[in-house]
Amino acid sequence: MIENSMFEEEPDVVDLAKEPCLHPLEPDEVEYEPRSSRLLVRGLGENEMDEDEEDYESSAKLLGMSFMNRSAGLRNNASGYRQSSDGSCLVPSLRTMVVCAVVLLIAVSVIMVIYLLPKCTFTKEGCHKKNHTMELIYPLATNGKRFPWAKTRLPSNVVPLHYDLILQPNLTTAKFSGSVQITVNVIQVTWNIILHSSGLNITKATLTSAGWNQAKPVEVLEYPVRDQIAVVAPDALLVGQNYTLSIDYSSNLSDTYYGFYKVSYKDEHANKRWLAATQFEPLAARSAFPCFDEPAFKATFLIKIKRDEQHSTLSNMPKNVTIPVAAGIVQDEFSVSLKMSTYLVAFIVANLKNISKETNRTLVSVYAVPQKLGQAEHALDTAVTLLEFYQKYFHIEYPLQKLDLVAIPDFQAGAMENWGLITFRETTLLYDDKTSSAMDKKLVTAVIAHELAHQWFGNLVTMEWWNDLWLNEGFATFMEYFAMERTFPGLQTDEDFLKLRFKTMMKDSLNASRPISSAVQSSEQIEEMFDALSYIKGASLLLMLKKYIRHDSFQAGIENYLHNHSYRSTQSDDLWDSMNEVTILDILNVKKLMKTWILQKGFPLVTVKRKGKSLYVQQERFLRSVESENWTSDASYLWHIPLSYITSNCSSFFCPYAYLLDQKSATIELQEEVKWVKFNVDMNGYYIVHYAEDDWNTLINLLRTDPAALSPKDRAHLINNIFSLVGIGKVSLLKAFHLLDYLVKENHTAPISQALFQLSLIYDLVEKRGMPNLSAVSKGKVEKLLGSKIDQQTWTDNGTLSEREFRSTVLAFACSHHLGNCSTTATKLFNEWKASNGTKSLPTDVMKTVFAAGAKTDDGWEFLLSMYTSSVSEAEKHKMLEALASTEDVRKLIWLMQTSLEGDLIRAQELSHIITTVSQSLPGHLLAWDFVKENWEKLIRKFHLGSFAIQNIVTVSTFQFSTEAHLLEVKTFFESKSEKISQLRCVKEAIETIQLNIKTQCLCVCVRH
Ligand SMILES: [Zn+2]
Repeated sequence: MIENSMFEEEPDVVDLAKEPCLHPLEPDEVEYEPRSSRLLVRGLGENEMDEDEEDYESSAKLLGMSFMNRSAGLRNNASGYRQSSDGSCLVPSLRTMVVCAVVLLIAVSVIMVIYLLPKCTFTKEGCHKKNHTMELIYPLATNGKRFPWAKTRLPSNVVPLHYDLILQPNLTTAKFSGSVQITVNVIQVTWNIILHSSGLNITKATLTSAGWNQAKPVEVLEYPVRDQIAVVAPDALLVGQNYTLSIDYSSNLSDTYYGFYKVSYKDEHANKRWLAATQFEPLAARSAFPCFDEPAFKATFLIKIKRDEQHSTLSNMPKNVTIPVAAGIVQDEFSVSLKMSTYLVAFIVANLKNISKETNRTLVSVYAVPQKLGQAEHALDTAVTLLEFYQKYFHIEYPLQKLDLVAIPDFQAGAMENWGLITFRETTLLYDDKTSSAMDKKLVTAVIAHELAHQWFGNLVTMEWWNDLWLNEGFATFMEYFAMERTFPGLQTDEDFLKLRFKTMMKDSLNASRPISSAVQSSEQIEEMFDALSYIKGASLLLMLKKYIRHDSFQAGIENYLHNHSYRSTQSDDLWDSMNEVTILDILNVKKLMKTWILQKGFPLVTVKRKGKSLYVQQERFLRSVESENWTSDASYLWHIPLSYITSNCSSFFCPYAYLLDQKSATIELQEEVKWVKFNVDMNGYYIVHYAEDDWNTLINLLRTDPAALSPKDRAHLINNIFSLVGIGKVSLLKAFHLLDYLVKENHTAPISQALFQLSLIYDLVEKRGMPNLSAVSKGKVEKLLGSKIDQQTWTDNGTLSEREFRSTVLAFACSHHLGNCSTTATKLFNEWKASNGTKSLPTDVMKTVFAAGAKTDDGWEFLLSMYTSSVSEAEKHKMLEALASTEDVRKLIWLMQTSLEGDLIRAQELSHIITTVSQSLPGHLLAWDFVKENWEKLIRKFHLGSFAIQNIVTVSTFQFSTEAHLLEVKTFFESKSEKISQLRCVKEAIETIQLNIKTQCLCVCVRH
């Protein structure tokens, strides 16, 4: 899957907004243990913390302590209830002891109630505690009988081999009926078969075996808390035997974006139509058919769909036969699938049209609603090119006879890699010459490259469990950029990847981050794995490894991995073992190296000190922290860092030096003295570098005198690097500003966009806090450095891709910050476009900027909205919507968010993006938060708790707050919802970000003085 907006061209000023949402998951907190049970098991300390928190709050108020000091006090105090680092227990206060006794009494009472009144207990999560005796306590099924399984993960005593699935959806009544026959094999003798089912009304269930005369009816127990059902067998199920479980059921088509869901759209005659499509990853296959819904339970699938004659259907496999089954109803039967995971199953019932092309015995087709089929050509050509590339690169043929790419008119994710039937948003698949920009073209190409890579990484070889989601997503993201670099070098997408690495490191430097391979159990924990760490950090680590072990070894390693594990499931170690097969173990142990990156959260800060020919390097964790004494901390962190560096004597891109730093510190001896040294070449490594004062000055001077001595990526990296160090107090903001002075000579997009990004962060923060002088300083800085470049831009689509991107970036920034004569030109173009009733064509690369300028007036806004509703180009609509949401008219902003939540005039798939844009403006950032609070229940129903959309909404609606009052409000709001919600990583990250904003603002004020 690819998440929408994670890879999209984003608004120019927001990238704290992309800060994702993480919190560390301790394995012992999550394994087989319902959340609320912690109140019983470990709750004593936690409850006391709440009491003491109130105590500290009130004391602090009395003493006039700053909130940050109070926070520090809270943390210190909290640690008092756990073991101190030397293993001894701290002595609690009298008050603590009293509270402890009370809580203990309550806990004992609750436990007694559990034992004495079993009926009140085991029907809910939270009644079991994590020890062996309690694990024997089973929950109650919906009919009051004992449910014979008490864990979140399914048992492995019975495994599925094959599914025969028949579905009959009714697009008019929005209901469907289904019948599934699952052939299972018994691994250990058992009387029960435990599998998943969610929201299905089961009407009949039978079990058959080769040894039985006939099918036997079986009882089905349901435990909806974990989406599990238990089939109670009439006899013991014997080891090695196959059985066939048949279940008839019915359900409603979903009105969310998950499961088997319905979508409305307009046909070419503007008539409203319905289609039904699926989105199963990660946990929604169970809501379309009873199944063993974990990725490691791979099986084959035979799918049959009954439909009205006027519709058509698609599924993973080619259609085999269509037979009439009743008046006006026919049944499509598809070929038996390859062995695959349930989350990759897909089917669509619709009236779509397609174009096709054959390559290497595979028929590639792109489907869209009929009136948009003209925008499908770029996708078809791109898909064919990339499919051919991947087959050659992996030396494994794409195993299916067909590959369909389908644009779904309403789709929450960016795209989904269902084997043989990839589903997309319309914006990520369709390309329109007149309205799609150079960046839109890159987006479509990138998403196709990502999803096609999944046909191998994810579909052919699948992660065993969601803790290793990065194996799917990190690899697909890595291959996406690598494949584009090879097949479409003109798109220069490697710099987009660099930009994403910068953003991801910002998130990963929070204490709320997590190791990319993290234990997960609950549905919201699994949903939360779909974040920038699994995708971008995963891909970044693969890039670092590839650069270190060289491309040939890397390619041979992944070829081994795919061959060794085809049609099976893997863990991270399987990948490293495959890599180790192609390296000389005594010299380089890939597993040892990479474990330090996969299993630790965060990343290192490498400090370099140069003396003569010696380079003294040392590592520590790079951590942005609200407490200045912990800015870099925790001595236990140690990475094996493949350092790379260039010097004044060897600055050619062909000769970076490498050194593996696997200790806390080391000394590298150069062959000769050099004038300068720059580490982390092109930022191919996932670490930040700090230099001694003299070396920083030398590099700053080098940028001014000879910027071409460093690559554009190295220049962008230095900008990112120095501002990151400002954030942790290692370098002054003045020095960072000093480095930016070279930008008058800069003509490349990567360094310019990084500089604008960093300045925007400061500008936005101080603007929201009503510090006009300080925001004027950062704005003035941009004007001085880039003013002439802004004025030189032409409002056209002419030039190389790099020039077009540069123009788009610079003008978007200039207009949104009222620099030069940008707004005047944009407004003039908008008025001409409006006067032509939208028929005059606008340059696509600056179209969004022109629309945004027009949306500032009531007339312009209304006209834009009317054009939005009639446009058939999603690329154009996307730009229009962003412009509509950039107004500062409060009533219009509320209307936009509300209308999108309703999902009719503006689709709900756009809501997350609308909230992102609304949050950027001064009035909007307060409105967005109010909207989120008021509509929280609707939001989590529509988008699922923990999903990327919810992560994004929480982040963007809070990330610009920088006052203690807002901090308290955000904390209180989420805590008032539920423990599950307040424990979401995105919530923890939002709180940490606000705390950091409070601190950053102090830094800015210091600079002013
Ligand atoms: Zn993906």
